[in-house]
Amino acid sequence: MTTLLLPPANQIPLETKARTLSLLERCSDIKEVEQIHAQMIKKGLVLDTIPISRLLSLCVMSNSGSLSYARAIFDRIRRPNIFMWNTMIKGYSNSKHPEESIVIYQMLHNSTPINAYTFPFLLKACTNLSALEETRQIHGHIIKYGLGDEVYAANSLLHVYAKYGRISSARRLFDRIQSRDTVSWNSMINGYAKSGEIKIAHELFSQMPARNVISWTSIISGYVGCGLFKEALSLFHEMQVAEIKPDNVALVSALSACAQLGALDQGRWVRSYIDKNRIQVDQILGCSLVDMYSKCGDVEEALSVFTKITKRGVSVWTAMITGFAIHGRGREALEFFKDMEKEGIKPNHITFTGVLTACSYAGLVEEGKCLFKNMERVYDISPSIEHYGCMVDLLGRAGLLKEAEEMIKRMPMKPNAAVWGALLGACRIHGNYELGRKVGKILIEMDADHGGRYVHLASVFSAAGKWDEAVMVRRLMKDRGVSKLPGCSLIDLNGSVHEFLAGDQSHPQAEEIYRAWDQIVERLRQEGYIAETESLLLDLEEEEKESAIHQHSEKLAIAFGLISSKPGSTIRVVKNLRVCKDCHSVTKLISKVYSREIVVRDRTRFHLFKDGCCSCRDYW
Ligand code: ZN
Ligand code: ZN
Repeated sequence: MTTLLLPPANQIPLETKARTLSLLERCSDIKEVEQIHAQMIKKGLVLDTIPISRLLSLCVMSNSGSLSYARAIFDRIRRPNIFMWNTMIKGYSNSKHPEESIVIYQMLHNSTPINAYTFPFLLKACTNLSALEETRQIHGHIIKYGLGDEVYAANSLLHVYAKYGRISSARRLFDRIQSRDTVSWNSMINGYAKSGEIKIAHELFSQMPARNVISWTSIISGYVGCGLFKEALSLFHEMQVAEIKPDNVALVSALSACAQLGALDQGRWVRSYIDKNRIQVDQILGCSLVDMYSKCGDVEEALSVFTKITKRGVSVWTAMITGFAIHGRGREALEFFKDMEKEGIKPNHITFTGVLTACSYAGLVEEGKCLFKNMERVYDISPSIEHYGCMVDLLGRAGLLKEAEEMIKRMPMKPNAAVWGALLGACRIHGNYELGRKVGKILIEMDADHGGRYVHLASVFSAAGKWDEAVMVRRLMKDRGVSKLPGCSLIDLNGSVHEFLAGDQSHPQAEEIYRAWDQIVERLRQEGYIAETESLLLDLEEEEKESAIHQHSEKLAIAFGLISSKPGSTIRVVKNLRVCKDCHSVTKLISKVYSREIVVRDRTRFHLFKDGCCSCRDYW
């Protein structure tokens, strides 16, 4: 590229320049760009600022890897103007080498005056590089150049600080910006929400002068991230009232809230919204829908969504397989796993967690062992601690306690509380006192603040008739000031979620519910029901011993469901802990006596009660 023999730029006829510009305008690939560039060199147009700037941004913007071509052009420009510098910074900020943006900026810094447009892409490069120190230095430059008040530059800085959790730096900057716009507010809300300060995020959200869809989405996903699902859903409804159309991120957040709450009616509402507005169901949205339906207990509907998704990636398959798993439909999970492979989709580590869980809950021991063996050999996925946990659970549930223990010993990593917990659960189911005692002691030392661990160990002791030891564990728990997570059940009726705690009196219809429960018990007694109060006193279950067995949260929720829904309709309850023995037998009986299907999701899986039986086959 020699420029020695070219005519000076001011002698080039105007129409030649205009023609070249319009050719550049219509350029569609790098080949054409190269041709025009060659002509530009011939005609001396490379010395003219406008066509060369245009050429440069075209190379940078086209996504056919022509950034290096742009760089070659740029390096030959004797005195690039600020527009050209900014173009190069922008080009690299989104490339595989964002650090080049900073290199270019350093060169620029020493030669040409900077403007406000230099910083947004430079800061974007810093975001992509997680370069906080550089960000701070650039912040200094922005102030030095007197651009601190430029909302464009300030917003970019805010975004980086908020994204990397430097919330106090972000806030200081935010408070100083004179002309804050929606983007500034959104960055702050996002930053607070992501760092768990949801209250402050909400305060800002209510104060901001104009909210757009990103503001709503940020606050809704913030609530979901903090586990405040009811609040997230009510904000989602407020968003409808405000006539803001939710984007896919908001829809995914709302669906995830429904899934956690088991709020099927509201989940259905989101689905119909998607259908009505002809919103394209992509991988992420499809995955959320499948997940929502299966976690709300409607695995058939999950399946129908699944079959309608045209291009199914591994995440959608995994969601469906996991759905079958938590419903105890292990065979189908395995079948889908095979179908997925037939379609040429490679399983990932989450798929394996799903399919191993499926084997565990359905008692498919051989299948599970075989999959686990093949993980590394065939699929090139080294088992993580979750997968070992699944295997310990699988072997333990099946009564292969020795093998489960061996598995823990063979693990290449240090077993965590979840892995030991799986073994302890198995000891309890199979009444292995010796091993249970050993494992339980390891657990309460390892997870000393987790009330459930003490209760488990105590129940292993009491099941073996070792009352003294059971009492000792209880006392230890009390002395250490460990409290247990209170039992809580949710029921979704006519589009609103009702929440019950054990012994709860706070529901507006509490009196009616307790009266209904007494009648239910009366009727069950006629059918031969005897409350397993003995097991409650001795086999200290997960719910507090003090709260009477008849006030367990799922019983209140089911009673409420029975009096508040149409006869014959399905009752769906979500419980935060494991279902106790008595609640399990009572629910079986209710399903028969009242001819109702009752779906209960407990901490880990689903129970479908129908005609006096449960889908878990009393194996949970
Ligand atoms: Zn119970
Ligand atoms: Zn069950």
